[in-house]
Amino acid sequence: MIIQLEVNTPEKDIQELIEKINQKGLHTNYVVGDNHSIIGVIGDTSKVDLEEIEAQKHVAKVMRVQEPYKKANRAFHPDNTIIDVNGIKIGGGNFVVMSGPCSVESKEQIEIVANAVKTSGSTILRGGAYKPRTSPYAFQGLELEGLELLKLARKATGMPIVTEIMSPNLVEKFVEDVDIIQVGARNMQNFDLLKELGKTQKPILLKRGLSATIEEFLMSAEYIMAGGNSNVILCERGIRTYETYTRNTLDISAVPVLKKLSHLPVIVDPSHATGKSWLVDPLSKAAMAVGADGLMIEVHNDPANALCDGPQSLTPEAFDKLMKELKVLAKALNIDF
Ligand code: PEP
Ligand code: MN
Repeated sequence: MIIQLEVNTPEKDIQELIEKINQKGLHTNYVVGDNHSIIGVIGDTSKVDLEEIEAQKHVAKVMRVQEPYKKANRAFHPDNTIIDVNGIKIGGGNFVVMSGPCSVESKEQIEIVANAVKTSGSTILRGGAYKPRTSPYAFQGLELEGLELLKLARKATGMPIVTEIMSPNLVEKFVEDVDIIQVGARNMQNFDLLKELGKTQKPILLKRGLSATIEEFLMSAEYIMAGGNSNVILCERGIRTYETYTRNTLDISAVPVLKKLSHLPVIVDPSHATGKSWLVDPLSKAAMAVGADGLMIEVHNDPANALCDGPQSLTPEAFDKLMKELKVLAKALNIDF
């Protein structure tokens, strides 16, 4: 961290500031310049509140040199994190596909889709039970019943399940019932929820917020990790831009950027990123090509009559075709899939 001081700051005030910083267990290096003097702060500055320093008398500007996230930072953890979900490895060169319907709608529907995606090579089953819908009048999910149906589908297929949590009150239930807990884009900065999830050891699939910067995304991962849970999977699912043709804009460059900055696995959700089923195929391939550790794809047996996200859902046939092509691409790229 570099602190730039105002011109003509009295020496006494500079020494007071240095003393204050040193009391935080950090080291300082004071450099007197012709116009501006600066204080270099050395040590673990991730716990220092930048605004607190900025608010001090005679401080003109504060610049971070180090990222504010530590546990999620590759600089402090060079090796890729590999998360084991019932023997399925996520991260570190393994490519994993999680797929299933946007929402669990009935016993029959989740069974049909689960069996189909398993046959095509998907190893993890997704399905929403609690749905974060923009309209309170839209289908809100089958909630507890949906969770039970997902568990039945897991039993029938052997596939681990991933589903979205919205309330911190349900953490205990989800820890017991599901294999990966999903935090949706809308809850990426629900800090109470993140803190509760940090107290568990459950793998957490953290989706990037609709308008979150990469740093904000990683700070949300840091919340979970700061609580003691380092099993975090990052998911790029598109961000809001001025473009309206697609539901969101898939920030494909976020994948290599996140992998450079962090050791956590990164997956891509091309379904919510685009909102259009025909775009899921090319963007899944793009995700694999830029180094994603996997995909989350929505598949529905009857997209035209889906209760949620039909336009972006692949039919089982389209999903099967995509999976076959991804296998060819994986071979060319020397990816384990
Ligand atoms: C979902 O996966 O069903 C979902 C709602 O995704 P997102 O939070 O990315 O919008
Ligand atoms: Mn959806």
